[in-house]
Amino acid sequence: MSGTWMRTVASLLAPALAGLGLLAPAAQGQITSPEKHFGFQLGSDRKIARWDKIVSYFGLLEKEGGGKLKVVNMGPTTMGNPFLLVIISSPDNLARLERLREVNGRISDPRGLAEQQVRKLIGEGKAVICQSMSLHASEIGGTQMAPELAYDLLSRRDEETARILDNVIFLMAPSFNPDGAIMVSDWYQKTLGTEYEGANLPWLYHQYAGHDNNRDAFQTNLVESKYMAQILFREWIPQAYVDHHHMGPYGARIYIPPYAEPIRPLADPLVWREMSWYGGHIAYKEEEAGQSGVINMAQYSGWGHFGFHWITPFHNIAGMLTESASAKLATPLFVHPQQLRGGTRGLPAYEAQTTFPNPWPGGWWKLRDIVERQKISAWAVLDLAARNRETVLWNAYQKARRQTERGAESKPAAYVIPSTQHDPLTAIKLINKLLLQGIEVQQAPKGFTTTGGMTYPAGAWVVSLAQPKMGLIRYLLGRTLYPDNEWTRARDGSPMRPYDMATDTMFEFMGVRVDPADDPPPGELRKLTAAVEAVGKVAPGVSGYVLDGRLNDSFRAVNLLLDKDAAVRRIDRAGGGLRAGDFVIQGGSEAILAGIARQTGVDFAALKGDIQPGSHEVKRQRVGMYQRYWGGNMDEGWTRLLLEQFGFPYTSLMDAEIKRGSLNDKYDLIILPDDSTARITGERAATGRSGGERSAEFIPPEEAYPPEYRSGLGNEGVNALKAFVQKGGTLVTLGGASNFAIEKLSLSLRNVAANKSSKEFWCPGSTLRVKFDSANPLAYGMPAEGLALYLGGSPAFEITPSEHNERYEVIVRYADRDLLESGRLVGEDTLAKKAGMIAAKYDKGRVILIGFRAQHRAQTHGTFKLLFNALIR
Ligand SMILES: [Zn+2]
Repeated sequence: MSGTWMRTVASLLAPALAGLGLLAPAAQGQITSPEKHFGFQLGSDRKIARWDKIVSYFGLLEKEGGGKLKVVNMGPTTMGNPFLLVIISSPDNLARLERLREVNGRISDPRGLAEQQVRKLIGEGKAVICQSMSLHASEIGGTQMAPELAYDLLSRRDEETARILDNVIFLMAPSFNPDGAIMVSDWYQKTLGTEYEGANLPWLYHQYAGHDNNRDAFQTNLVESKYMAQILFREWIPQAYVDHHHMGPYGARIYIPPYAEPIRPLADPLVWREMSWYGGHIAYKEEEAGQSGVINMAQYSGWGHFGFHWITPFHNIAGMLTESASAKLATPLFVHPQQLRGGTRGLPAYEAQTTFPNPWPGGWWKLRDIVERQKISAWAVLDLAARNRETVLWNAYQKARRQTERGAESKPAAYVIPSTQHDPLTAIKLINKLLLQGIEVQQAPKGFTTTGGMTYPAGAWVVSLAQPKMGLIRYLLGRTLYPDNEWTRARDGSPMRPYDMATDTMFEFMGVRVDPADDPPPGELRKLTAAVEAVGKVAPGVSGYVLDGRLNDSFRAVNLLLDKDAAVRRIDRAGGGLRAGDFVIQGGSEAILAGIARQTGVDFAALKGDIQPGSHEVKRQRVGMYQRYWGGNMDEGWTRLLLEQFGFPYTSLMDAEIKRGSLNDKYDLIILPDDSTARITGERAATGRSGGERSAEFIPPEEAYPPEYRSGLGNEGVNALKAFVQKGGTLVTLGGASNFAIEKLSLSLRNVAANKSSKEFWCPGSTLRVKFDSANPLAYGMPAEGLALYLGGSPAFEITPSEHNERYEVIVRYADRDLLESGRLVGEDTLAKKAGMIAAKYDKGRVILIGFRAQHRAQTHGTFKLLFNALIR
């Protein structure tokens, strides 16, 4: 824990608090109640406490709490709001927090310690429990509950509370998404008293990610994810973690741990037992308090996406979630008994059962009901850990030791990541993402040969499995097959949808070569102690430079060069050491180039010879990207993030501008992010889902949004886009938006994945083998073969016979057979040999259709270039 990490929020807030007269010393033991600070009981009907007011309350508790509460400002969120970590424990514990953090770190990674030493550390250590609130900002209960939970811990004077403070270090993120919390509370205020009171936010509740922010835990693209990864995966390895969510309004009132079947193997089994243990105590405490509608071991299966609560078990943390039935934000919802239903995983009917002994009878459902149930569950986890401090810490040691031993005995024993890669800078990004997970990575200073006969030059990175996070490493760096068994098939044999993706194989998404090695590599290995920094070099004393077209970061460098009006050319004809797709610049200030090389990691190599005949000048396209309401489009948000990361300028295009037409005046290229045709046009959608595989979130009917937020291009917009392409514009359609182009522009293409039963064809979030036509400018810099991420609902293309077959070019096609690399695939014949990406000439312009997810959640680095190539000419 660095000094800057420990800077408290009090100093930040001091001027504001002084202005309000809040810095006057409080009377001995007097702690301002939430009611007094906020002016109402948290969770009251039609009231939401705003984030700034919550931040100031925690500042106040830090002052008044007698040393039991510390506020750490982790730094600014995406939109510049404070991201808080609130630490609650006894004054003694907080006074030696850094020592207790060290002790916890040793127990969580006991390599090199004798059991006696561990026992001594356990004697000194405290149970560390982390809970985070309202990651999904529309799920407001957690953030509204957090101040009251803190107040209770500080003000209650009973034995139970004292035991928690003495034995537990409670790490609380009162909002995992402060920007979203502010958006939602402001939106609620705006709709209060209108016909649309309690409606969902019409746009994403995070600048980039919206609901997908929980899918970022393993790639940490967002700053909020980075803060939580710092807390959970590196600085503290808590023994338990609970993330508090909401679910749909017509089933159980609150889901609590453990998860339903199937679970994802390769975590230490203790972690699953711990979840049942905590869950049992939560369930018991809820029933003791007379709370109805509590369900466990249902609905949420143990094999989910690698979001925060589902990735933590592989960090040896009992990673859990609660899910409360939603109201209409803070407005009560009336639910008729006949509207209550089961039919979900583990709850076949809405009737009493062992895991649901006390069904809620229906009636008014209020935010306060959510706050109370969540507070009991949060408290129960703290209570159990406090009562069993030594067991909890002993388990932490056991999990870490046994996972390390399993890894040492396993085959593979390690993963080797060669430093020579198709795109070595992306390999470095992979290494740095592993480090953010707290995974130990080593590097070989000399070349070596494995027992399997693979030879690697110096600089190869090695990730040994003999470390506590063995299970996590296996899923991020090893081929993964989603189970096909009784838990993943319905009674009629049809496959059941996983919660999200069927694989989280980060190296495959990123297009990085990772080799399993049966035995630990021989020779010296050095542990990385800091992120790997790639610093590009500029060849001295030459007047022309080459940038490797295989590097994603070359596009960033080219964008920086174009920002400075540099002339950049692209090689079309290979030869003389140049590949088709390489970038070339002639002249330019060496200082500027050195700056760009440093910033991007890209080398500016010396250019030899004349390149003019086989090259063309790179022209920046004027890019527009369609943005809509209906709660926003996550794929649009992530694509915006990606474009910004790589320096592509773009303009967000809303309905009105598209409908006005004359799009060619301002744009050369328009991107339609993944979406259903109905959502793009605004025709009433049969389902509220976009093209991708999504979780079963409650999506309100269209009428729930005020009319000005019911977007859609209508016929006018469709015709304007058509005219744009006819006059020479380029339309890029991502994922499901390709169906829009096929239908509305009458392309001679058929989506072969449409209208198939799940028994015939099924492929939820999996990596599939494809071939890239790297001679085509749209696939410049790509290898001949690789992987594409396919999501349920992704279109795949067959070119239907027409008078003008020549207008269609296949850029990416699926392999002939054995398509599946990781995930799950039923019925590969549907996709085999079909096109995954097509470029279609259309009058003077063209349409580029990318059916699979080339830029999914800004995670699929291996196929980013397919989009990037389209964005420059
Ligand atoms: Zn949620």
